[in-house]
Amino acid sequence: MTNKYCILTIDTEGDNIWKVRNSKCSISKITTKNGKYLERFQILCEKYDLIPTYLVDYEMSLSKPFIEMTKYHRDNLEIGMHMHAWNNPPYYELSNRYGKNKSYIGEYPIEIQRKKVECITKQLENVFECSIKSHRSGRWYIDPQYIQVLIDYGYNIDCTVTPGINWTYNNGQTEESRGIDFSKAPQKAYYMSEKNVCIKESKSNNNTMIEVPVSIIKKRVRISETLKYADFWKRGVRNEIFSWLRPNGKNLEEMKKIVSVKSAENEYVEFMIHSSELMPGGNSTFRTNDSIEALYKDLEELFSYIKIMGYEGISLSSFADRL
Ligand SMILES: [Zn+2]
Repeated sequence: MTNKYCILTIDTEGDNIWKVRNSKCSISKITTKNGKYLERFQILCEKYDLIPTYLVDYEMSLSKPFIEMTKYHRDNLEIGMHMHAWNNPPYYELSNRYGKNKSYIGEYPIEIQRKKVECITKQLENVFECSIKSHRSGRWYIDPQYIQVLIDYGYNIDCTVTPGINWTYNNGQTEESRGIDFSKAPQKAYYMSEKNVCIKESKSNNNTMIEVPVSIIKKRVRISETLKYADFWKRGVRNEIFSWLRPNGKNLEEMKKIVSVKSAENEYVEFMIHSSELMPGGNSTFRTNDSIEALYKDLEELFSYIKIMGYEGISLSSFADRL
């Protein structure tokens, strides 16, 4: 049986969200101009029989051009949820803010986590007129308690895990909060243990989440002995040690290498991009029209390679159904 499925995930969120501060005033100024730029990406996916899964956060559920696009192309895409805990209603101010960064969902009291998940899930179901089963968390944060909240609200597939990457050097908003260490997480799809998000349960029960990690492989680089451990991980996060199936304008060959490695293992590939990276200036990587044209050139070549390698396009929930 082939496991050669290609999953495309798009974190669908406001423009330049990295630069927005975690304050009520900053949040009220978030723009969603990138919603107008997504149809070009959708059409490219359809050209190669690929089925993108748009993981949508709160503000993008209000973007009219994006909503219209998804209705027009509804048979060739999936809508899932993307949790940006810090600006997903209901707004809840955390008392200790010495972490000085955007909050992780796990920093909120459990009843607030539930309210946030309930709010965005109902909103997406109403706006996009479909059930919502797939999820990726903002800032690559999940924990067993949050996963249980998602299961309670009907989610059965998550794609937040970034195998090999340790995010514990990234603060949240409160002083002690840290990201998740995925350095030992599986690289292949797995039923997630109820106790540890990086541990595989031998078989599913009705209460398990299927995890489909992003395709990330370790580069063959020699780590200098003088490099401090912390630097090692920080560099890893900065893409010097790991290759991601995520375009950055200069990694077409690295991305093709991932596809060929996964193909040799008869494994799925999972690509990721942010919706704002498809608009010139919507992000700090692709700032100009020319850089967007170069990105589309890379995407054409990558998608065509994926097709040549015998991959079949699939959405996240259809992939869960096949497992
Ligand atoms: Zn995000």
